[in-house]
Amino acid sequence: MLNEQDYFKFVKEHFTNISSLIINNSHIRDYCPLCKATMGFTIETIPLQREHMHFLYKMPQPLMLKCPMCNSFKIWIIQNIYVQNSDGEGHIERYRILAIPKNESQIPELPDHPPGLRRAYTEGINCLEANCPTAAAALFKRALHLITRDILGANPGTLTSEFRSLLSKRNKLGMVIHEAFKENSYLIRESSIIKRDGTFDHDILQYTEEDALSLHEMFIELAVMLFVLPRTVQEARNTLSFRKNDII
Ligand SMILES: [Zn+2]
Repeated sequence: MLNEQDYFKFVKEHFTNISSLIINNSHIRDYCPLCKATMGFTIETIPLQREHMHFLYKMPQPLMLKCPMCNSFKIWIIQNIYVQNSDGEGHIERYRILAIPKNESQIPELPDHPPGLRRAYTEGINCLEANCPTAAAALFKRALHLITRDILGANPGTLTSEFRSLLSKRNKLGMVIHEAFKENSYLIRESSIIKRDGTFDHDILQYTEEDALSLHEMFIELAVMLFVLPRTVQEARNTLSFRKNDII
């Protein structure tokens, strides 16, 4: 049996804080594997009468998250926890208790080389699902470096410096990246701790849940840009040329 404080402590220790994915009360940011893009999923939930609103901070709440493009949906069960700040104000943290279906741990389009890329991504997802955000962040960051250094040819540095060096030039895959993930919260935080000489000393233990989620998002965006979309385009070309041959 639990009292309220024990319950909140249990939730914080065992489940993933997804607060940084919330855009507003009716939208949540996440990757849609069908649209192959990060989308603003619309949130639908069972409406509560005003006199029952306090249940939002006592019991888990089911959310139906619907993709605005393809209309597919997933279910998350979340617990809202009201946290009192030191200045007397408060904020709400949201923890994901259950996800149906689970986050995809495979991106079939990822290349086999460098070895370890698929494993780093899959284990990162498993860590995220098991509420080990520090390990997840370390694995996603390593997976990103495998792409920037081994696949795209950046000189080893921080993630920020590697992205900057790759920007707007043809990389080893023959593609040009114009997007540097300027809004990504991990890169913003990393930029704030880089020293003047370009080095930075970032202890793995300082990685937060928000870092894990934003590194995951960065990995997905980059994987889609470099591996998923080119393959989709190639498949569409093959289908079209097959149809053309059919007509002739
Ligand atoms: Zn979709």
